[in-house]
Formats: sequence, structure tokens, C-alpha cells
Amino acid sequence: MILNRLKILIYFILIYILVMVLTEEEKKERKKIYNKKYRESSKNNPEINKAYQKKYYEKNKEKKKERINKYNKTEKGKEEKKKYKQSLNGKKVNTKSKWKKSGLNMENFEEIYERYTMAIFCDICECVLSDGKPVKRNTKCMDHDHDTGDFRNIVCHYCNLHICK
Ligand SMILES: [Zn+2]
Repeated sequence: MILNRLKILIYFILIYILVMVLTEEEKKERKKIYNKKYRESSKNNPEINKAYQKKYYEKNKEKKKERINKYNKTEKGKEEKKKYKQSLNGKKVNTKSKWKKSGLNMENFEEIYERYTMAIFCDICECVLSDGKPVKRNTKCMDHDHDTGDFRNIVCHYCNLHICK
């Protein structure tokens, strides 16, 4: 008697699992079709697609920022951020925003940045430049005209403070 009930129970459980698997498959299949349709329609209507993406971005901007901020606070996120900051691209992006804030005319940024990374000697006192932190007497600096924003020289920290004004 009990064995029979158990059999029935197992039978129902199996049917339940089967139905669940099938609906999952169906969902996947529907998603596939939707994605294919979406790809085709965006190929045919690039303008609409652009507008849609912009709208989507605006709508989810805050959420995305929040997610990134949250991730950056985790151990893994901190580790990755640190690694990126020390990478060539990370350094460049960081320098770019720093120079932009300082009022440099960014038109020739690439050229100036290349000169900056290649510079070995101070353009004024000709001391050997050093990189990174903490800031020392001979730390490499970008010197620009604060009125016009025009780039002038790659100099040491000392010359930047005392000579370039
Ligand atoms: Zn110098």
C-alpha cells in the first residue's frame, strides 16, 4: 500500500521535473527567436536601434553606476581597479582627466602624452625625471600656459613650481 503511494508520488515528481525542463527549453527557444528578430530589425533600422540603445542607457544609467560602485567596493573589485590604474591604459586615462581638469588645451593630447611618456630630462634644468608617487623634486610634470591652455614643456616638479608660472 505504502509502496504504491510512493510510486505514485515519484511518478508525479518525475512529471513535474519534465514539465519544468520543457518550459525552460521553451523559454530559451523563445528568447532565441526574439534575439534573432531583434538583430534583424536593428540591422534594418540602425537609427531606431541607436535611439533605443540611448534610451536604454539613460534608463539604466543609475542602476549601472550603482552596480559598478558596489563591485568596486568588493575585494575583487578593489584589486582589479588597482591593477587597471597601474596599467598603461589606466595611467593614460587618469592623466588625461587630470590634464583636462587643469585646463590644458586637449586638441593635441595624444602628441603631448607621447612626449610626456618619452621624456627623460626636464626641459628647463635638464635633471633626470622620475615617475610616480610620492612627488619628489624631479617628478615629471606637464607644464602649460594657464591663460591660453597651450602646452609648453615637460619639466620637473621643482621647475614647475618655481619657474613655470
Ligand atoms: Zn627642472
